[in-house]
Amino acid sequence: MKKVKPRLSQEPWYATGLRFSCQPDCHKCCLREGIVELREGEGEDRRLAEALGLSLKAFRGKFTDKDDMNGRFMEDGPHGGCPLWRDGCRVYDVRPSQCRSYPFWPEILKSRRSWEKEGRFCPGIGTGRWYSRSEIAAILAGEGEATAERKEGVKRRVVGGEE
Ligand code: SF4
Ligand code: SF4
Repeated sequence: MKKVKPRLSQEPWYATGLRFSCQPDCHKCCLREGIVELREGEGEDRRLAEALGLSLKAFRGKFTDKDDMNGRFMEDGPHGGCPLWRDGCRVYDVRPSQCRSYPFWPEILKSRRSWEKEGRFCPGIGTGRWYSRSEIAAILAGEGEATAERKEGVKRRVVGGEE
């Protein structure tokens, strides 16, 4: 008799969806230590420059750096956190994809444990709006975003920064 091979599940651990709603008066992720990656190839740095009324060269020189590992990115401002935060995101409507997709990042979604760990930093994780597996897949593919409920409270800094 042939042995029956156990079927390995292809389902991600969050197959039944996840809850997330950005919380009013919270802006922890924008002020978190870390970097904000900018997709030059998709014109993210150009859009930020335009939103700030700067030339691309001026924007890059004032706010960004570049290296082989991260590409173009924004470092912490002089007071810590994202340099484009000033009582709210100064570029909210054109904020980078990194900001639009938080907390649905591969490194956070890799396991329930990492999702719950991030939830100890972000009070919006595990509450409010329900995201289906397909919505999460779309965000991971860069075709959707985690809806921010208010401009002042929203979004992110990069993983790598400590709480
Ligand atoms: S996404 Fe950012 S601003 Fe919103 S609740 Fe989480 S940490 Fe706070
Ligand atoms: S949303 Fe992004 S670009 Fe805007 S302040 Fe926060 S980290 Fe910076």
